[in-house]
Amino acid sequence: MSPGPLLHADADSFFASVALRSRPELAGAPLAAVAHVFVASATYPARARGVRGGMSVQEALGRCPELVLVEVPHAEVEEVADALFDLFGECATAVEPGSVEEAFLDVGAAGWDDAVAAGHDLRRRAAAELGIPVSVGVGRTKLMAKLASRAAKPDGLHVLGVDREHELRSSLPVEEVWGVGRATRERLAVLGVHRLADVDGVQADRLQAVCGTAMARRLRSIRTGTDDAQVRPVSARTKLSAEGSTTGWDRADRSPAELAGTCVARLCRRAERAGLTGTELRISAAPRDGAPAVTLRRAGLPATADVTAWQAAAATLLATADLPPLAGLRVTVAGLSPVGAAPLTLF
Ligand SMILES: [Mg+2]
Repeated sequence: MSPGPLLHADADSFFASVALRSRPELAGAPLAAVAHVFVASATYPARARGVRGGMSVQEALGRCPELVLVEVPHAEVEEVADALFDLFGECATAVEPGSVEEAFLDVGAAGWDDAVAAGHDLRRRAAAELGIPVSVGVGRTKLMAKLASRAAKPDGLHVLGVDREHELRSSLPVEEVWGVGRATRERLAVLGVHRLADVDGVQADRLQAVCGTAMARRLRSIRTGTDDAQVRPVSARTKLSAEGSTTGWDRADRSPAELAGTCVARLCRRAERAGLTGTELRISAAPRDGAPAVTLRRAGLPATADVTAWQAAAATLLATADLPPLAGLRVTVAGLSPVGAAPLTLF
């Protein structure tokens, strides 16, 4: 762990930004990337018009009639996410993933200037090499770096320095601490805790009773400045996922079998490039009527990244299940390990 500050890097409106790469004429237009009939990601001009992720396309068009709608380019999104993490790995000594498009980075900074320079370099490379905007926050702890990247958006870099950090440890509304949801916030409000400084007036056992031991400890540590500042790398990937919708916004519908075949092909390409083989296949099938997803699983497969073998396994798994009409699928190849780590077997 380096003594200097750390970074939180987060791609802006990731799915929409990836879709914009091949449509430069739409830069600056309100645009939403759509999965099935919902907005998966909206550009900042669209957000300015009230369009939000998770909103139905109908509601989004009601708020912004000139909204440009594009299908989420799933294959391209996965390629860019992989490339983004390769770039994170090149820029940092340790990378702790938050999601497919954000991570905490320990860049080995000796001080603030080093960390800021690394942040600028990462942003420049993401724009030049991947064609997407990545906002970067610089802070002393993970919470501070994450608050900084939020302040940096869109397409910026923000440093949350020691003076501002000191202020926030008193003034930050508790709901801005990640992990504090609506229920916890409401229970804390009953104790009179709205901002971090309010924690001081609450007895330890009462705070624990209201929000649990772990969260109580966390709030106290944030208050006193001893919160988590360690970037914990994931040494190796253990699974890869690909997903898609059966119905598209601007394309023909796909059968679940076709969709699974496409996802498997993408996964095998990614696994092969990373030098990985897998032994387990999972398919999570989302019914069209909004019912909970159905999970199909087959473990103990011989280790391979061979596309024909995996497509056959996926087809068998789907054929043996009695599935309702589907909105989409997520296919996961798990049990990944480097090629040669396990004896290769014929499928
Ligand atoms: Mg993001």
